[in-house]
Amino acid sequence: MSRPVRFNIYQKEADAKTAVSMTEAPEGYTGDGFFTTKLSDVVGLARKNSIWPLPFATSCCGIEFMATMGSHYDLARFGSERVGFSPRQCDLLMVMGTIAKKMAPVLRQVYLQMAEPRWVLSMGACASSGGIFDTYSVLQGIDQIIPVDIYIPGCPPRPEAVLDGFMRIQELVGQESIRRRNSEQYKGLLESYGIQ
Ligand code: SF4
Repeated sequence: MSRPVRFNIYQKEADAKTAVSMTEAPEGYTGDGFFTTKLSDVVGLARKNSIWPLPFATSCCGIEFMATMGSHYDLARFGSERVGFSPRQCDLLMVMGTIAKKMAPVLRQVYLQMAEPRWVLSMGACASSGGIFDTYSVLQGIDQIIPVDIYIPGCPPRPEAVLDGFMRIQELVGQESIRRRNSEQYKGLLESYGIQ
């Protein structure tokens, strides 16, 4: 049975056995009739495959993100179909675009309104370092006001790079202990940003 794939020149045979990959099981011990693993691993598996992004898009990188959400790249394949614009419902802040210093307090407030656990992805040169806008009015990197987990280089990054950055966030989320947010190290990081 062949299935037409719109973006491919050559039609591909649909094969559920090889074309569909299942989410890998967490590490654990197996035996006849039992499987044991760690709670952290199970929670990490669920979290990493159901990330709700909050796109904070201020300029051209946001357009590239729209392409990433479109049917060709389709971020929904990673369990992130549900993009939200309420900080209280989202766990991944995706900052894309030039952040003016006037906008910085707003971005910080959005971050503060997100519940733990939360992660931050900085997309593109502007969000990560101010980019080409080395001026008095532009924040020279969002890590001056909030902690960042992953940076995506590029001006703008291609959707493939966005997907790569997103998958690195997934790795972090999947491996993170459910207690990391209570760790002294994490608390110290937040305190260094003046966040309680
Ligand atoms: S990094 Fe480049 S593409 Fe992205 S917002 Fe800045 S100028 Fe635009």
